[in-house]
Amino acid sequence: MGAIQLTPTPATAERILHADAQRVIDAINAFTFETFKTRGGRLGSGMGSLIEAMWVYYMNGVLQNEGGEAQLCEIAWLQDHEPADFACLTRGANWDPASRLGELFRIEAKSMNIGVDEAKGHFTNLRSETREYDQLLVLVWSWTTAANQYVWPRIHDYFLGPALPIIELRDALHRQRGGTFVDAQNCPDGCEPLACTHAGEPLNAAGKRERRSGPRTCKPANVEYAANFGGLIRMLKTDNDSARQRFRDLRRANPVAHRYISFIHKHYPAEEVNQYRKAEWQTALRCAGLPTNGESASEANAILRQHLPNYQELLRDTF
Ligand SMILES: [Zn+2]
Repeated sequence: MGAIQLTPTPATAERILHADAQRVIDAINAFTFETFKTRGGRLGSGMGSLIEAMWVYYMNGVLQNEGGEAQLCEIAWLQDHEPADFACLTRGANWDPASRLGELFRIEAKSMNIGVDEAKGHFTNLRSETREYDQLLVLVWSWTTAANQYVWPRIHDYFLGPALPIIELRDALHRQRGGTFVDAQNCPDGCEPLACTHAGEPLNAAGKRERRSGPRTCKPANVEYAANFGGLIRMLKTDNDSARQRFRDLRRANPVAHRYISFIHKHYPAEEVNQYRKAEWQTALRCAGLPTNGESASEANAILRQHLPNYQELLRDTF
């Protein structure tokens, strides 16, 4: 009798990947420091894509070496047309991407170069394309000075978590901006409801499509699609009280939403400063037991960062 091959549950595989994630980043950084050290570091270099791909190989190495249940998981690269980058498979299982047979969950990977003002990464997967354990991976990196004018691509931080709560946050704030999602019963292309392929496609406040796969009649002039939806930073922006309230409600209600917001704001302080009013920053200082003396919003934010490691929980709980 051979040993029984166990199949990890998606929840187990998710726990394993989360537990190993920092080790994977450390291993990639050790490699890129040795190998990709160079004079000059180009933006738009494709290095972000290379780092995303390396994550697959390094995660597989960690899983393999760890043994036990971790060894029963492996990361695969999905073909171009699939709405995610990677899949976590049961090692050795038959795999059929079309039906997801053999898959535990999928992973959408994004990299953000912290040296670039407007990060290009967009997370546009639709709710209908996403299952309970599917994950979003975000890698924040930059060209970092080594010595003697040499730089290397260093991953500073990562986010790895379930995609659905982030989709919920993204879609709620999209609606707050006047955006909509196509209803198959009433598709702008006039499709037969059962034949409509545009259900759930995001349209902006001007009714223009936000993905190439949106309705043909909603194509903006001169471009294929508007490309504002799902910006990793932009999706969190709010510009009115109602949107700010929704943002705060969702941050309080869901720990994954809070973790994603906190991650983005940690690396883009100006976004965090803008999310709360000057008087609220003063309140946050007082709640933290810190003296206030007319600090500006960004000054108050800097003080909180310096003195209160869990200031983002304070922001969540106070407002
Ligand atoms: Zn349609």
